[in-house]
Amino acid sequence: MENDTLLVRGGYVYTADENARTHPAGSVLAVNGRIVAVGETRTVDEAVAALGRRERAGMRTVDASGMMVLPGFVNAHWHEVLGRGLSQFGPRRRQPDPWCDHADVPGPFAGGGDVRLLSTTFDAAYSFADALEPEEARAIAEYSLLTQLKAGTTTFGDVGSMNKPEALIAATTRLGLRGAVSVWAGDGVCAPGESRFRRTREAAEVLDRLESVRRAAQAEGSGRIRVMPSAIYTANMSDELGDGLAAFADRHRLPFATHVAALPDETDVLRHYLGTSPVRRLADLGLLNHRLIAVHCAWPDEEEQAMLLQARVHLNHSPAKYGTTGESPMSGTRTLLRLARAGLELSLSTDGEGLPIGGMAEAMRQAWLTHNELWSDNTAIVPSTALAMATRLAAGALRWQHEIGSLQAGKRADLVLVRIDDWRYLLRPRPLEGFLLLGGSADVDTVIVDGRVLIQGGQVTHVAESAVRERFIEAAVQVAGRLFDVDRETLTRFTARFSERTRQR
Ligand SMILES: [Zn+2]
Repeated sequence: MENDTLLVRGGYVYTADENARTHPAGSVLAVNGRIVAVGETRTVDEAVAALGRRERAGMRTVDASGMMVLPGFVNAHWHEVLGRGLSQFGPRRRQPDPWCDHADVPGPFAGGGDVRLLSTTFDAAYSFADALEPEEARAIAEYSLLTQLKAGTTTFGDVGSMNKPEALIAATTRLGLRGAVSVWAGDGVCAPGESRFRRTREAAEVLDRLESVRRAAQAEGSGRIRVMPSAIYTANMSDELGDGLAAFADRHRLPFATHVAALPDETDVLRHYLGTSPVRRLADLGLLNHRLIAVHCAWPDEEEQAMLLQARVHLNHSPAKYGTTGESPMSGTRTLLRLARAGLELSLSTDGEGLPIGGMAEAMRQAWLTHNELWSDNTAIVPSTALAMATRLAAGALRWQHEIGSLQAGKRADLVLVRIDDWRYLLRPRPLEGFLLLGGSADVDTVIVDGRVLIQGGQVTHVAESAVRERFIEAAVQVAGRLFDVDRETLTRFTARFSERTRQR
C-alpha cells in the first residue's frame, strides 16, 4: 500500500485551503499517501505524465465524475461511549413507543445545567472502561470508529472515552484512520450537598494511564495515532491533576482539550467548590495557552473572554448535539461566534452520543443554519466556512494542520467523496450547499486515508464489515447483560432487526 500512487480524477474539488479554493472539474494526485498535485484536471494530468515509470505503473484511479471531493473530516472532540449507551436498554430503558417521548423530562444539561450532578456522573464513568473485557472493548471501539469512518471522519480527537484507550488504538490501527487518543481524565467531584471539591482518586493514577497511551501511540509506528491530554470537565479536575496535565502537554508540545465554561451553572459551582471561575482556573493551572481546545466555551465572563483572546486558544463546538440534550452554547450567549470574529479559531465536532448518529456533515449543516439564524445574517457562517471548521480548522485544533485538513500539495491524502448527481443536486450550482441542506453522513461514498481507499460505494474495502458488526453485537449483548441488567431477549430483538436491516443494504 505504501508505494501506491492514487489519482482521484474529474470531481468537484473543494480544497478547504485558506482561500477556500474550488476546482469544479478537478483532480487530486497522491504518491505514497501524500498529495503531490491538486487542481484543474488538465493540470493534474500533466503531473501524472511527469511521474516516474514505476509510480505510474502502480497508479490506481478513482473516477470522481459526479462526485464532490472534500478533505477528510476532522472530528476534533469526540468520546467513544457506545458501550455505556447500552444502559438505555436496561430496566429503566427508553421506551420505543413513539408516544412515550411525550413523557420525557429535562435532563442534566438542560435549563442551564446541573453541574453538580454532571460532575458526579462524569466521575462515576471513570471506571466504566475497567468493567469491559479487553475483547469487548476492542469490538465496541471498532464498530464505533467504523461509524465515524463511514460518515467521512478520517481523524478523531478523543476527549476521554468510556472505553479502554488500548482498544481505541488497536481499532484505529486496524481500520486505518487517524486519531489523537486520550483517557477519561478526572480525579474528583463537586458533589451535590457538599461544600468542597472532593478527591475520588489519585491524580498520579490518571497521569500514568495517559503516559501509557503516549507510549502505545508512539510504539504503534504508523504516524496516524497520537496522544492528547484532556480533562473531562473543569469540575472534575484537582489542582494536582491540572498541574500534571499541563506539564505533560508542555513536555510533549501537545494540545490539551477540556469542556470549559460550557454551562451557565458552571461558574457559580466552580467558585463555590474550587474558589475560582473556569477559565481563570485553567490559567492558574498553566493550561490557558494556544494549545488549549476549549470545548463548548460559551459562558466565560468578559475578563475571561479577554484572557481567551490573549492566549489565542482554539474553540470547538458541537452544534448538532445541543438539541438532543437541551443545552444552549450557541443561542445562550453567542459568545463562540463573537470570539471567532475577534480572531479565535472555531471548529466543529460531534461530541459523544450513545448511538452512532450524527456525523460531521450534520455538525456542518447545523453550524451553517443555526449561526445564521442567531445573527439574522445568511453570511455569518457560509457553507465553505462550515467545511473549513470541519476540516482545516479542526486539524489546527489537534495541531495536525501541517499534515491534514485541506487538499494541498504536501499534505497527507485524506479525502471524502460524495455523489452529487442525483435529484437533490439538479440545477444547484453549489454542490456543498446542496449536501449540507439535503444530504448527510449516509451520503458519503468514498473515504481515503493516507492515499488508501478505505470506503468505496459506501462499503468498507479493507476489513469484513459483517465481522465487525457481529463482534460488536456479541460484545453488546454481553456488556448490556452484565453491567445493565438487560435481559438477553430485549437486546436480541434489537440486534436481530439491526442485522437484518444492515444485511439487506
Ligand atoms: Zn464532549
